[in-house]
Amino acid sequence: MRVAVVGAGVIGMTSALAVKEAFPRFEVHVFANEFSPGTTGDGSAGLCCPYLLGNTPRDKVLEWSRITRRWLEKFWKAGLASEVGLSLVPMYRFTSDPDGFSDSSWSEVVYGAHRLSEKELEKLNEEHKTNYTEGFMFLTYTVEPVRLLPWLTDQFLRVGGEIRKRKIHRLTELIDDKYDLIINCSGLGARELVNDDTVIPIRGQVTKVTASWLMHGFVEDDDHGNYVIPNVDSVILGGTHQENDFDCTPRKEDAQFISTGCCRKLPSLKNAKVVKKWVGLRPGREEVRLELEVLKHSEGREIMIIHNYGHGGSGVTLCWGCASNVTKIIRDTSKLKSNL
Ligand SMILES: Cc1cc2nc3c(=O)[nH]c(=O)nc-3n(C[C@H](O)[C@H](O)[C@H](O)COP(=O)(O)OP(=O)(O)OC[C@H]3O[C@@H](n4cnc5c(N)ncnc54)[C@H](O)[C@@H]3O)c2cc1C
Repeated sequence: MRVAVVGAGVIGMTSALAVKEAFPRFEVHVFANEFSPGTTGDGSAGLCCPYLLGNTPRDKVLEWSRITRRWLEKFWKAGLASEVGLSLVPMYRFTSDPDGFSDSSWSEVVYGAHRLSEKELEKLNEEHKTNYTEGFMFLTYTVEPVRLLPWLTDQFLRVGGEIRKRKIHRLTELIDDKYDLIINCSGLGARELVNDDTVIPIRGQVTKVTASWLMHGFVEDDDHGNYVIPNVDSVILGGTHQENDFDCTPRKEDAQFISTGCCRKLPSLKNAKVVKKWVGLRPGREEVRLELEVLKHSEGREIMIIHNYGHGGSGVTLCWGCASNVTKIIRDTSKLKSNL
């Protein structure tokens, strides 16, 4: 069976690898017009903690996050952390909403989440000069896509996958090229590729710094919140989440907001060396689209498409869970099963 995966971001590369590993006899080809380091995840810190996922059902978010966490845990235990860009970091997550977190189910998929006591919150509010109403402390992984993606690509090529640089204008092009199954991992590109204008950009600007003395981080859930996330040899300071904003150029005012907010909360960052300022467009959607679509082609042939896009601010957190879900759809679909 010939499988075309559209997209070489963290969602496309994990889907391609999972399918090729699960069904070694399939010919799996990845098509994309952008590869690492030019994909959406490449400037992100890759924090594993669900965030900006619209109304994606909670049970799915938790399931995909848990599967991804177990996958990363394997690398951690096998001593492969450095190769895949994995760190295990202590984090705080806060909200200043008077009612606290509207949904704190994410705390189930990180390690050892502990809700902060009033006394602990008070102390942090004093230090950060903030008005947090609720907060958690926990451990979780960061897996930097800029390191993970080259590793995924190597693994995929090693098991016999192939990669082609090509812009796909319509999925039917691939049908004409005799692919039996198309896996659509085009992220924000789904707006054009499958005319899904419910996928919107959620612009994220960050500043990457070196601050080897900083081993912990925090995320503020508020609209004008900041975050600080340590990676292997850098720290990512954020950040914005501006909906429907396609501007990929870093802006002075956003850089100022990031620097002022992060340094106010962690003053030692004042001495951090700025490595770069970067913008990425998260593929926001009311709900992650992960489903099978069967289309009738002009000659009456049925075409199978598995859509896997719209992961908002959590593509890294969910990647292996969603890729495993893609392989499950293949196993459960009788018309595809006959090819296994
Ligand atoms: C500032 C910032 C911080 C973030 N932090 C985190 C975090 O800490 N944790 C986390 O889990 N997530 C985070 N995210 C979100 C995460 O980066 C995204 O959810 C994820 O990268 C989306 O991956 P993707 O593969 O779906 O899309 P993309 O990386 O955008 O990849 C899409 C791919 O499809 C290809 N493509 C699209 N259309 C076509 C076409 N027509 N023809 C050929 N190829 C096409 C593109 O070239 C590309 O290869 C962050 C995002 C940003 C911007």
